[in-house]
Amino acid sequence: MSSVEKVAAHPTARIAVLGRGPVPAGEPVLRADDLGVLRGDGLFETMHLRHGRPWLRDEHLARLAAAATAFELTLPPTATLIELLDNVCEGWPAQVEGALRLVCTRGPEVGGPPTVYATLTEVPASSRAARRDGITVATLPLGVPADARTGLDWLPAGIKSTSYAVNSAARRWAGRAGVDDVLWISSDGYALEGPTANVVWLTGGTLCTVPAATTGILPGTTVAWLLGHAGEVGLTADERMVTPAELHAADGVWFSSSVRGIIEVHTLDGVRRDRSPRTPALQALLGFPVV
Ligand code: PLP
Repeated sequence: MSSVEKVAAHPTARIAVLGRGPVPAGEPVLRADDLGVLRGDGLFETMHLRHGRPWLRDEHLARLAAAATAFELTLPPTATLIELLDNVCEGWPAQVEGALRLVCTRGPEVGGPPTVYATLTEVPASSRAARRDGITVATLPLGVPADARTGLDWLPAGIKSTSYAVNSAARRWAGRAGVDDVLWISSDGYALEGPTANVVWLTGGTLCTVPAATTGILPGTTVAWLLGHAGEVGLTADERMVTPAELHAADGVWFSSSVRGIIEVHTLDGVRRDRSPRTPALQALLGFPVV
């Protein structure tokens, strides 16, 4: 392999900043007083870059716009955000899967426009391996009832804010517990979502996920697309509440997210599940490569 081919096979991480264009990955792009850093006051989206283009880009931008309205954050026009995404993706090798992140913080504490930038990295090998091998998941109490968050009219629920410290803590807990990921459970006993994924399950011929509107979980772009196209693999789709006991009895359980796609939960709370024969068809439907 020539050195040019090697570079193409493993492209380096990229960053493009609104108003500045591409900057070297190691170069600072935020002020120390940026509210995104000081308070985690910002929004982000992560998209799957396939064949050099962000999959479900418009759905991600629509979710970002809805969150910005709920968050009272003024975003640049959509066309400007698309230009920034195009900027960071330009020349990325088509055969390399990317994780494309768009970040919009509230900007400097002293006032000023939002800080907006995009990052692009290769999809980690661990995410690709999870598609093939599946994952182990443990349930983890979230400490609030399932409807607690949507009952509060001041609280913007179901938004992808940059305040992900709690989500990261849950994933560190997973590491200490020796599992790959966790599934948050409400204090009234319902499964909600993972720290970076929605839960999907199959019962009979119906593919289900948890309703975002009544629980305040993140309305996932991946699961919305999957359920919208379930008919193509002979399934119906529904949004339902579910308990861990019902998940144990389900015909298949998966986690879904933009970068990992749909990955099978082969062990839940230490109980090994039979692999679902549906997994390859669901992964093929979503168009995520499995190697
Ligand atoms: N729920 C949470 C908390 C997430 O952070 C994510 C993605 O990161 C998801 C669900 C899945 O959403 P999407 O399919 O849009 O990536």
